[in-house]
Amino acid sequence: TTVFVSGATGFIALHIVNDLLKAGYKVIGSGRSQEKNNSLLKKFNNNPRLSMEIVEDIAAPNAFDEVFKKHGKEIKIVLHTASPFHFQTTNFERDLLTPAVNGTKSILEAIKKYAAETVEKVVVTSSTAALVDPTDMGNANLVITEKSWNKDTWESCQANAVAAYCGSKKFAERTAWDFLKENQGNVKFTLSTINPGYVFGPQMFADSLKISVNTSSGIISGLICSKVGDKFYNNCGPFIDVRDVSKAHLVAIEKPECAGQRLVLSEGLFCSQGVVDILNEEFPQLNGKIAIGEPRSGPSFLEKNSCKFDNSKTKNLLGFKFYNFKDCIIDTAVQMLEVQIKN
Ligand code: NDP
Repeated sequence: TTVFVSGATGFIALHIVNDLLKAGYKVIGSGRSQEKNNSLLKKFNNNPRLSMEIVEDIAAPNAFDEVFKKHGKEIKIVLHTASPFHFQTTNFERDLLTPAVNGTKSILEAIKKYAAETVEKVVVTSSTAALVDPTDMGNANLVITEKSWNKDTWESCQANAVAAYCGSKKFAERTAWDFLKENQGNVKFTLSTINPGYVFGPQMFADSLKISVNTSSGIISGLICSKVGDKFYNNCGPFIDVRDVSKAHLVAIEKPECAGQRLVLSEGLFCSQGVVDILNEEFPQLNGKIAIGEPRSGPSFLEKNSCKFDNSKTKNLLGFKFYNFKDCIIDTAVQMLEVQIKN
C-alpha cells in the first residue's frame, strides 16, 4: 500500500514516515526543495520503499497536481501534515491563513482530478487550535471535546500571530470537511482529522535540532537555555508526545471506526512551570542554572487559567496509552542536551 505524506520533512511527519516504513508501507513524501528531500532520503538510509517529490509552496494554486498526475494511480492513502507553524510574521493572511487553506484545498482537488478512484483514506493533521481559540483557552469553566470549534472568524483571528495560526488550523480543517460534503460521488475517500495539543518529545533525528528547532519544541529548548532568575511566560494547554501523534496517524488509517472522526490528542494539560520543575528535579546539570519560577504551582495555575479537555471518545477509538508528561519531557530534554541546539 502506498501512502503520500505532505510536509514529510517536518517534526511530526518524520516520525510518521518512520512508522509507516516500519509497518511495511511504501511512502511518497513531499518536501520543499531537492536539498531537503535528499537529506531526508539519506537519513532513512535510502530505503527503497521511500521516495520524495518537491512541493515548494502549498500556497501556490494546484500545488499538488504534478505529484498526483505522476503517482495518483498508486496512492491509496494521503496524510496531509504540511502547514505553516510559526509566529514570525505580521502578514497573517499571506503567511499563515492562505497557505493552510489553499494547501488543504489543492491536495484534495488533486486527488479529485487524478486519484478519485484510488485514494481511499485521507488524514489531515489539524490541531486543538481548530477546537478552541486563544481567548477561550483561558476560560477555566469550558470543557472542549471532539465536537468543539474555534469561534474566531477570518478577521478576528488576525488579532495576533498566535490567534492567526489557530485560525489557520480551523479554516484548513473546515475546508477539508466542506470539500468532502460537496464532493460526495466525486471522490471515494473517507476523512479523519488528527487534532493534537502542543506536541513535545524527541526529534526523529537529533541533528535536526542543530539546524532549527520547530515551534512547539522551542518551548522546551527555551526553558533549557534559560538562566537562573529568568522570568518565563507560562505557556499552557493540552500536550501530547510526538510518538503518539505519529502512532495515531497510523491507527487512523488502519481502524475503519476512525473514518469521519476528529481525533483529539491530549494526555492532559501542561504549563511551562511543570516543564521547569521536571528539568530542575531530573537533570542535576541544569539545577541551579536555569529558571525556577514558583515550583509546584503548575496544577493550581492550570486549574484557574486553562479550559479543560475531554477526549475520552478519542482515547477509546485509538485504544492505546499515551506517553505521560514526565517521560515525554525527560526524553525531549535528554536529546536536546546531547546536541548543540540552534536556539
Ligand atoms: P514543522 O514546522 O516541523 O512541519 C511543518 C511542515 O510543513 C514542514 O515540513 C514545512 O516545510 C511544511 N510547510 C510549511 N509551510 C509550507 C508551505 N507554504 N509550503 C510547503 N510546505 C510547507 O511542524 P510540526 O511537525 O510541528 O507540524 C506538522 C503539522 O502538525 C502542522 O500541520 C501543524 O499545524 C500540526 N500541529 C503541530 C503541533 C505541534 O505542537 N507541533 C500541534 C498541533 C498541530 P519547511 O520546514 O521546509 O518549511
